[in-house]
Amino acid sequence: MNRDGLRGLLKRCFGYSSFRPLQAEIIQDALAGLDVFALLPTGGGKSLCFQLPALARDGLTIVVSPLIALMKDQVDGLNASGIPATFLNSTLGAEESRARFRGLYKGEYRLLYIAPERLMLPSFLERLHDLRVEQIAIDEAHCISEWGHDFRPEYRQLADLRTILPEVPFMALTATATGRVRADIVRLLSLREPRCYTASFNRPNLTYRIVPKSKPGEQVVDFVRNHRDECGIVYCQSRKSTEQLAAKLRAAGIAAGPYHAGLEPDVREANQEKFLRDDIKVVCATVAFGMGVHKPNVRYVMHYDLPKNIEGYYQETGRAGRDGLPSECVLLYSAADVIKQRTFIEEKPDPEEQKLAREQLQQMVHYAESAGCRRATLLAYFGETFETVPCGGCDNCLEPRERFDGTLAAQKFLSCVYRLRQASSFSVGLNHIVEVLSGAESEKVRRWGHNQISTYGIGKEHSRPEWQAIGRELVRLGLCRQTAERLSTLELTGEGLAWLKNRQPLTLTRPVSTVSRPVRKQIDGDVLCDEGLFQHLRAVRRQLADSRNVPSYIIFPDVTLRHLAARQPANVEEFAELPGVGERKLKDFSAPFLEAIAQWRARTNS
Ligand code: ADP
Ligand code: ZN
Repeated sequence: MNRDGLRGLLKRCFGYSSFRPLQAEIIQDALAGLDVFALLPTGGGKSLCFQLPALARDGLTIVVSPLIALMKDQVDGLNASGIPATFLNSTLGAEESRARFRGLYKGEYRLLYIAPERLMLPSFLERLHDLRVEQIAIDEAHCISEWGHDFRPEYRQLADLRTILPEVPFMALTATATGRVRADIVRLLSLREPRCYTASFNRPNLTYRIVPKSKPGEQVVDFVRNHRDECGIVYCQSRKSTEQLAAKLRAAGIAAGPYHAGLEPDVREANQEKFLRDDIKVVCATVAFGMGVHKPNVRYVMHYDLPKNIEGYYQETGRAGRDGLPSECVLLYSAADVIKQRTFIEEKPDPEEQKLAREQLQQMVHYAESAGCRRATLLAYFGETFETVPCGGCDNCLEPRERFDGTLAAQKFLSCVYRLRQASSFSVGLNHIVEVLSGAESEKVRRWGHNQISTYGIGKEHSRPEWQAIGRELVRLGLCRQTAERLSTLELTGEGLAWLKNRQPLTLTRPVSTVSRPVRKQIDGDVLCDEGLFQHLRAVRRQLADSRNVPSYIIFPDVTLRHLAARQPANVEEFAELPGVGERKLKDFSAPFLEAIAQWRARTNS
């Protein structure tokens, strides 16, 4: 099938009029019978890469996925678009499984979702030859590698399929792959001269922000209140804080729930399910939450604590805005969190592991503290050069941080470190240095006689948070260093000492002392529309979803509702033009929405 033919199929079945980057290439190669390896970011549209070829063929496409909980949603979504698909897993009773098998033998389905351990059962493999398998798609392919973050040993057996079904092409898909994981996927799945496609990892619809952390509980409540009708995830480090934060949000009248590995499985699943159905707006979760969550309208991801590494941070923030609409990623950052993380690292028994963890933390700190474009910093971590700075979608690009001549400030700060060390023969922490600079009359300052030294009170021109930021920047510049012991102290480095001697001009970044107001980036998918009508259409969608017992986004994604509210189609022909409206959904759902719009118009015009 040529590209035009594929585009026709795309509109008819899924209601989209163009392909996302690399989708068309991947689909064409797959249809040509080649092995394909697709590395696309979250929200890049991986599913379509095997779903569309499945429709262009007569036989069966087997989709291997580790996420049993997700299979039903994906199949429901396909069925809602009129695509014959099914899944087999342990949630089904024996009778239902048998019925589905009969359907498979009769060639009633185009797609079968299945977990690897089930697929590789000898009893299942025996039947494979009778199913006319034409494609095997391996989703979340990084699970095959021990170097990835979700190693599943069952994935290793999949290579046996190559001998069982030697003619059938493979497609491996993932959103995470460092070089090592990539090599593992190709080798361990025995891909045959695969065509490899890597899309940019840039997520243009996400805005990245770092906010200085102070009274974080209130910061979260404020943020969530400002995003009242939207869904989001707040990642916390500890199980306890997920529960406390969820309770705090509930006390503020917000539908929130916790999620962590220590909850009873049924509670955990119920919370996830409620979130998928918009009954819970906010999930306060540990990193255990995520891989199975394909909810497209997560509008924000907050990090209450500092993530351990950039890779994890990228994956977690990546869960926002799968549908391509503007979404926010906010990280609450404080130097105290860095110290806390360092302490955890020091407790690790293995020195190699410690070293790696320290390096990763350092990259994270660099990301959080740098005044450069966040997007460019993130992408650089994945080996991508991002050149269109300012990006228009990060705090540093939207509100560039002012630079100032920091020579005097650095001089005061560093000599204070030096004098304190001289006076006491022990090093002190950042807070104490700041207290001395600003002339605090604290008990410690008096007890240690630090009000007697020459740098006491010489820094009244900056506030204490400003001095702390200056101190952190000097650490970043390598002029002083933070020790990694339990009580972290600051000391001068050789470079710092040398700088104090020759005092070359030094430029610093003006510290941000207030919490900046979120500004949203405008992008193509973001349609300006009547918010009231949009909310009304959401209610209509919710009713349809509930009556079918599926999450709302299975009916239509938010993008479609926004276009609906903006264009307000008056008839079926106009309705069919909207993105996300394929033939089947037009038939099944256009009537209730057209009616709702007509009523809305009558009401607002009268
Ligand atoms: P991934 O698995 O790569 O994270 P999905 O397959 O879940 O991404 O797709 C993300 C969203 O993008 C879905 O809502 C999907 O319907 C939508 N989508 C996929 N391809 C297109 C396209 N060509 N045009 C518009 N939307 C698309
Ligand atoms: Zn930027």
